[in-house]
Amino acid sequence: MPDPTSASLIAVGDEILLGQTLDSNSNYIAARLSDAGILVKSIRVVADDEKSIIDALTYSVENFKIIILTGGLGPTQDDLTRSVIAKFFGRKLVFRQDLLEQIEQRYRDRNITLQEGVKVQADFPEGAEPIPNKYGTAPGIFIRNNDTLVFAVPGVPREMKGMVDDFIIPHLVENKRGIPFRYRVIRTAGIGESGIAEILGEWAFPDIHLAYLPKFGCVDLRISAVADNNEKAESRLDVAEVFIESKLEKYIYGYGDIELAQAVGDLLLEKGWKLAVAESCTGGMLGSMMTDIPGSSDYFEGGFITYSNALKAAKLGVPTDLIEQFGAVSKEVAEKMAEGAAKNAYTEVGVGITGIAGPTGGTPEKPVGTVFVAVHTPEETEVIRFRFKDDREMNRQRSVFAALTMLHRILKKS
Ligand code: ATP
Ligand code: MG
Repeated sequence: MPDPTSASLIAVGDEILLGQTLDSNSNYIAARLSDAGILVKSIRVVADDEKSIIDALTYSVENFKIIILTGGLGPTQDDLTRSVIAKFFGRKLVFRQDLLEQIEQRYRDRNITLQEGVKVQADFPEGAEPIPNKYGTAPGIFIRNNDTLVFAVPGVPREMKGMVDDFIIPHLVENKRGIPFRYRVIRTAGIGESGIAEILGEWAFPDIHLAYLPKFGCVDLRISAVADNNEKAESRLDVAEVFIESKLEKYIYGYGDIELAQAVGDLLLEKGWKLAVAESCTGGMLGSMMTDIPGSSDYFEGGFITYSNALKAAKLGVPTDLIEQFGAVSKEVAEKMAEGAAKNAYTEVGVGITGIAGPTGGTPEKPVGTVFVAVHTPEETEVIRFRFKDDREMNRQRSVFAALTMLHRILKKS
């Protein structure tokens, strides 16, 4: 028996299967649906051919009451979704003068000549409802087939989002197709999954699902609840959230989709401190991440990309003999970089990052992935030696997150 509150997504497009486009549409739709209490239980990506689309539709109508397709609604001969849906649900394609007028109007508004081929977008499955397209010409298609709801929207992300937000979600919510389902995300840094599991102990909330979502040494905790209504689900989450906070307070940097860099920025603002960074192996990535945040000029002064030893000495004042004695990748140099960044930029807080990102440059004592991160504040300078793995890009990303994690911990306690 198909489940009325779960959904199937079908992304149509050879470009996704060829690895040229990431299926971000399904990702977006799944997030919007789950917010509305509708759980996506299947996402399929299929080729731009009739058989593949029909196979996916056959599976979907057997198992689900809500089906959303994206892609293939355009005017070209590789856009098959409209005709295949019509065929599958036994509807004729009929010419709709009202749709043609809308399409023509859109072309007039934008002052472009209507190509003859575009007119096929006015051929519409009989009995289906057009979904208005704010950002393009192809209308979406909404078919009620008994109690199965089928929506087809364009592949172009902006057009897809407009239809999902303005039509599909409101329709599903109004018709109470979702279940009272609520979730929250609690974001932590500076502790691994197993560390968290140990601190939390045996999970004492049978009604609440707890998921661990790790990324670059940070772990998001997602708690979710299903209840008779949304208020009940929320109050169950309140209890679990208070429990998690009581256990993990010092590791929590925020909720929802707040970024770690943003949390660090908020702490700097709170203290009235400014930050400068000195980066070697990360080549400016930390500075880039800080400046991704709107308003970061209030606390982020700037940075030094000092890749060579000469520049570390000249711009940050790292003593040359220190570099010779301990090596550029060392605790001593990281420390001086952090202090030099703060001193030369006249900030309270400085960060120094120096490491061997790889793939070459490792030694037995300092293998690839060895990174020193130092954080200097008016109270102390702390350095940590990290040992990441072999992948250059990952090592650079991990170094940035390690620096942000240290900053967060040190600023939170000081
Ligand atoms: P058009 O009228 O532009 O032809 P369409 O509905 O036929 O629209 P497609 O031709 O399938 O859509 O895709 C248009 C563009 O949208 C693609 O070039 C691709 O970049 C993007 N796109 C398609 N499907 C997806 C998807 N699942 N996720 C992200 N982007 C997508
Ligand atoms: Mg197309």
